[in-house]
Parts: sequence; C-alpha cells; structure tokens
Amino acid sequence: MAQATGQKKPVMEAKEVKRDFYQFIINGERTDSSSGETFTTYNPATGEALAEVAKATRDDAERAVQAARNAFENGKWKRYPVGKRARVLNKIASIMRSRFNELVELEVLNSGKSLSAAQGQVMQSIEDFEFYAGAIVGHRGKVNNVPGGFFNYSQNEPVGVCAQIIPWNYPMMMASWKVAPAIATGCSVVLKPASLTPLTAIVLTEICHEAGVPEGVVNIVPGSGAVVGDYLVEHPEVDKVAFTGSTPVGKDIMGKASKTLKRITLELGGKSPNLVFDDADIDAAVAGSLFGIFYNTGQSCEARSRLYVQEGIYDEFMEKFVEKTKALKLGDPLNKETHLGAIISNDQLEIIDSYVQSAKEEGATILEGGKRLDIEGFENGHWYAPTIITDVTPDMKAVREEIFGPVVVVQKFSDEKEAVKQANDTEYGLGSAVWTTDHGRAKRVADQIRAGIVMVNCPFSAFPGTPFGGYKQSGFGRELSIETLDLYTEEKSVLSYHGSRPLNPFGV
Ligand code: NAP
Ligand code: MG
Repeated sequence: MAQATGQKKPVMEAKEVKRDFYQFIINGERTDSSSGETFTTYNPATGEALAEVAKATRDDAERAVQAARNAFENGKWKRYPVGKRARVLNKIASIMRSRFNELVELEVLNSGKSLSAAQGQVMQSIEDFEFYAGAIVGHRGKVNNVPGGFFNYSQNEPVGVCAQIIPWNYPMMMASWKVAPAIATGCSVVLKPASLTPLTAIVLTEICHEAGVPEGVVNIVPGSGAVVGDYLVEHPEVDKVAFTGSTPVGKDIMGKASKTLKRITLELGGKSPNLVFDDADIDAAVAGSLFGIFYNTGQSCEARSRLYVQEGIYDEFMEKFVEKTKALKLGDPLNKETHLGAIISNDQLEIIDSYVQSAKEEGATILEGGKRLDIEGFENGHWYAPTIITDVTPDMKAVREEIFGPVVVVQKFSDEKEAVKQANDTEYGLGSAVWTTDHGRAKRVADQIRAGIVMVNCPFSAFPGTPFGGYKQSGFGRELSIETLDLYTEEKSVLSYHGSRPLNPFGV
C-alpha cells in the first residue's frame, strides 16, 4: 500500500475478498513479512491450496505492537466521542453485510465448514459489531456515595494494547468477538489468527480500515502461535491478552502474562454435558442434542459431547438419535443441503480417530460412525463420520478429554441427583444443556451445574448480548456481552473535595 509521497493515502478497501495472496496489516498498511516468507493456507474439504499468506515474524509482531501502542498513546481513536466510534462500528457491520456472500464463501473455503454454519457465524459477526456499537454508548461511568463535601465518580478507560489470539474453529466469529468490544472501548489491537484459517480475519481487518478505523488501531499478524503468539504474550507493552483456544496453551499464556501482570481472558476447552430427562419433549431433545454435538462438525468449544439420557426413555431416545445421525449429510460444504463439513486438518482427524480407537480398546461400543469417510469429489479432504459411542465409563479418555470432532459419548442416569453429579464430573465448565418439561427441575438443575452456560430446551448457546465463558478449566472472563466491555477497560475513581474550608488532615 505504499504510495508516492505527497499523495493522500487512500482508504484501504477489501473489495476483492477472495484472492491468491494476502498481506497482513500493520499501522493501516498492507505489508509483507520482514523475512519475505509466506505460507500456504488450504481448503480442508479438498486438501487443495487456497492462497498464500505473508508470514509474520517476531520483528513484524514488534512493529505491530509499536503501531498499536502509538495509536493508543497518540492517536485519535480513543479520544473520539463515543457516538463517533459507534458509527464506525456500524459502518464495519454494514460493509460486512454488503459483502456477506463473499465473506461466507471465503470462510467455507478456508475452514471446510458447511455453508449454513458459515452463514450463521458471519451474520453473528456482523451483529457483534452492531451490538457493541449500541452497548458502548450505554457503557457509562458511575457516581459513588461519599461523605458530604466530597464527590466521587468512576469512569471506564480503555485498557490499552490488546493481543488477541484466536483459533481455527470459528475464524471470523472469534475475530469479531475479540475486535468489536476492544475497539468499541478505544483499545488498540494486535490480532493473531490461527495459522490454519487466517483469511477472513485479514479481510475483517481491511474492512475495519475501509470503515474508518484509524491506522494502528487494528493490526493483524498471521504467523506461528509459538513464535508470534508467544512474543505478544511476553511483550511488556501489551496490556491485555484475550485468548481462545486449547487449555494447555491457555495455561501457558496465564503463566507468561503474569510476569507483567497483563489482564487476561481465557476461553478454553470444554466437555459439555447434555442431560435428557424422562419428561423431555423427545423430538425436541433429539434434534437439539444432534445439533449440540454435530454443529460445526463437532469442532466447537461448547459442543455437548457428553450425552446423558434418563433410563425411562433411553431406548426410545437412542433409536431416534441414531436414526437422525444417519440422516446427516456430509459433502460439498458450499452446498446448502450439507449439514456437516470437513475436519480442519489431517492432524485433527488423527486426534479424533485416536480417541475413538482408545474408547474401543477400553471396551466401549461404537454405535454409529467411528471412521474416516471418503466423499466423492473430495477425496483429499479430511472427513470423519458422525460418531456415537455407548457402553462407556466415566474414567475413559474419550469421556474425560475434549475430542473436538463429531464424537458423542452416551451414558444413562437414574435420577436428577445422579444427572447433576455426572454433569459436574469434569475439569471443564463451559456449556451444558438440560431437556425437561418440568420447569422446577430445569431451574434446580441449571442452578447446580458448574458451567458458564446452561441451555434449557434450547439448541443454541449464545447470541450477541449473552455472556459466553467458562467455569473451572474452561477459562474465565466473559465475551459477547455488555460485561465484556468492563474487561477491555480499567475503572478509574476520581475523588474530589468541594468543601468550603481547606482540609488539613495532619493538622500541622
Ligand atoms: P491452540 O494451539 O490453543 O491454538 C489457538 C491459537 O493459539 C492459535 O492462534 C495458535 O496459533 C495460538 N498459539 C498456539 N501456541 C501458542 C503459544 N505458545 N503462545 C501463544 N499462542 C499460541 O489450539 P489448536 O492447536 O488450534 O487446537 C488444539 C486443540 O485445542 C483442539 O483439538 C481443541 O481441543 C482445542 N481448541 C479449542 C478451541 C476453543 O474454542 N476453546 C478452539 C480451537 C481448539 P497457531 O494456529 O499458529 O498454532
Ligand atoms: Mg496448537
């Protein structure tokens, strides 16, 4: 984007959403890697190369942090009246709406997910910007109670430079969950997309500039997590790290961020329980449980991957659940009839299969699926059959650990007390679901589950406005809600004296 000197720098545009080569963006300019290196990003459904991407180095990450720091200290973004920042967020949303189909297509091509999943996620990304455009206007300070003669108010000020590190399962949605609240408060951002899925986050960054976000406020550095991500986490001029990804990397980040006492939010793994009671509306519970595990091909942190069914309806429920699982269509992710897209990578495919094999070795029954699939026309893609495992015990690896694929383990329970005990028998605490027509039971069980999200007779985990985040080893901090704005701000207390006589507390 370097222009001849003397000319006004044009506003960056993201009109060509899909292309062969993507540079990254630092300080409002598209840029190549300082090393000249690029990496190839693939289409997981076909295994074919999709585009080349400039690969950020530690030097590039340093430039990005400096650009973000400079924008934060000296730039105009955080000084804009809040309504003006809100207008820019709405403009980002409206540009995204105008390129909706192209963004969806790029998301499908880079992630292998189904068209319908990508449509929902890109739409939610747009709504995130709209939500925070509204929410920031209402994110006001407070007047606090103090003795007469004094006056105290508190105001929320942006926390500073935020490193935002995101995973591959929801590339555009995770970028939006992170960037929208951060820039709404006036923070600057260095975004590190997952190496497997950098494209839509790059285009989103371009759109931010096209909409009028000033240079240096949103920077993006695609590159290795162990290199670029680690550098950002260690950097003394980064004030906050917002991370979504695996629990081990989250723990590593927490340790490293402690050296400079960075603010952190961690949205990590899960092994979410799904409880179906005898009195449930069986058809609704079957449909919701199916979506709960197989949505996004099971590659969701809040996937309801532990299914518990009460004894009285177990056989009837399972018959319908298996039948509906068999009816799920896998195939061309761009076909609107497709329910499940591809698995992100061959490595992830192997992880999934190794969990299935371990369950088999430990004596479980593979009731459905349990194997890789060859899909006609997509032979070099990564595909796994929707899998149901029964005859499991609570100590099995497949029951305890996050698989991150289309695999559900099923167990029976006899009563409410046992259901709650089983639901909580995990080191995680992200999602959970309860299917019952007894409102008293729904409330009792929801109260007792140790998880950040409880879905009652509901297949969906969140909308813009609902708090999303974990208990226990699923992390901490909440995204997607108004409270998220608190986590991108510091609260400053201003205490003043207005009495008629000067104060002299020492009396000397
Ligand atoms: P991951 O390693 O935690 O990666 C998530 C993000 O962190 C990526 O941008 C990654 O960059 C970056 N990263 C990796 N190592 C880092 C480090 N040492 N310091 C700073 N950043 C680092 O997750 P993954 O390898 O993609 O997936 C592994 C497992 O994590 C999955 O099987 C699943 O169980 C879980 N997972 C959970 C979620 C969730 O939403 N909670 C999402 C994805 C995965 P690179 O892409 O360059 O490695
Ligand atoms: Mg990793």
